[in-house]
Amino acid sequence: MRVVNQPDSTCECLMAMDASGVMARAKITRRSCGPKDVAIKILFAGMCHSDVHQLHNDWMGSSYPMVPGHEIFGVVTAVGSDVTAFTEGQRVGVGCMVDSCRACATCRNKKEQYCGKVIFTYNSAMESGELSFGGYSDAVVVDEHFVVAVPDSVTDEVAAPILCAGITVFSPLHRFGIIANGQGKRVGVAGLGGLGQMAVKIAKAAGAEVTVFSRSYSKREKAESLGASIVAYSDADAMAAAAGTVDVLLDTIAAFHELDNLCPLLVPEGTLVRLGVDVHDVKLQVSTIFRGLNIAGSLIGGMEETRECMDFCGQHGIFPDCEVIPASKANWAIDELAAGRGPADGEGRFVIDVQGTLVAGDWQME
Ligand code: NAP
Ligand code: ZN
Ligand code: ZN
Repeated sequence: MRVVNQPDSTCECLMAMDASGVMARAKITRRSCGPKDVAIKILFAGMCHSDVHQLHNDWMGSSYPMVPGHEIFGVVTAVGSDVTAFTEGQRVGVGCMVDSCRACATCRNKKEQYCGKVIFTYNSAMESGELSFGGYSDAVVVDEHFVVAVPDSVTDEVAAPILCAGITVFSPLHRFGIIANGQGKRVGVAGLGGLGQMAVKIAKAAGAEVTVFSRSYSKREKAESLGASIVAYSDADAMAAAAGTVDVLLDTIAAFHELDNLCPLLVPEGTLVRLGVDVHDVKLQVSTIFRGLNIAGSLIGGMEETRECMDFCGQHGIFPDCEVIPASKANWAIDELAAGRGPADGEGRFVIDVQGTLVAGDWQME
């Protein structure tokens, strides 16, 4: 169905009003479908640790009311008259961005995430001055440039986390040569949470040897089942044995930490990629010079790269481990993540069943 100028529509959502981060049921309006827009019925919404940070204003840039959620999976319900890439009924995803200027050198270089005018999926001021609202809701309208086709091999429940957790680790693995050829390369992953599990799976699929660095050995079984070895930071002997062995280390730790423990793990001229977002400054030791280290940062990925990541996951059968929860448990799940825990088995992603629970009938937040 090609539509333009249909009326704005109301949808159900989970909304926080302040930095307590506590969400309650609310209604928001989605814009009508413009010529380049794709209207999406949201089926599942992944819960990223960035949602925790932003709900609690950890980055000191939060605006309220806030409807979090930038791991979105759903089905196209309508497309604008100029949309070419999507049709009604198609399975699609939306990640962390919904717009950028599309004209600057950064956008032309396919790095929309670094555009000065990027509009994030939520907690961003849109051109209209209104706040963007995210995926903890039952519908969204997004310019087709920021919509990603989901291959059949990626099932509904597991697609959403690829749109943030997946691309966030895929992009630096791509940039630092692991995706092109991981054979003979050693990848480290600090923190085995939502991002960490995807980092292990993608790096392994690219042929790399992977070691997880973690707060304890409680995730040993999980790491080993993914084909990685595991070292606890507190295990001095194992840390000493791992020193100087890692080519590329993805730091997904979701809390403030110095890099003292991590830098010694790198080979000379090895690369540490900061992914976990903490706004406090960290110290850089002189060893970064004497051992020629690269200290990099990385933010999600551009749209072309996000499509590559989705296709890579589909082709290699890389699916995030997810625990599907009802919308009523969303505040509980945020508290679990904030406390440094995750889904029941200690890693993976909480994913909200939007159509089955957020929209369905009478219910209360737990
Ligand atoms: P997550 O599922 O909560 O996992 C984070 C992992 O960090 C935990 O599983 C834990 O691993 C470790 N951790 C948690 N608290 C810790 C603490 N106090 N000290 C040391 N380690 C701790 O979070 P996520 O969704 O993967 O996100 C991870 C971070 O990346 C967050 O800061 C998030 O905002 C950020 N992020 C960045 C981007 C980007 O584009 N750069 C995109 C998405 C998310 P162990 O139990 O194994 O130690
Ligand atoms: Zn995220
Ligand atoms: Zn731009």
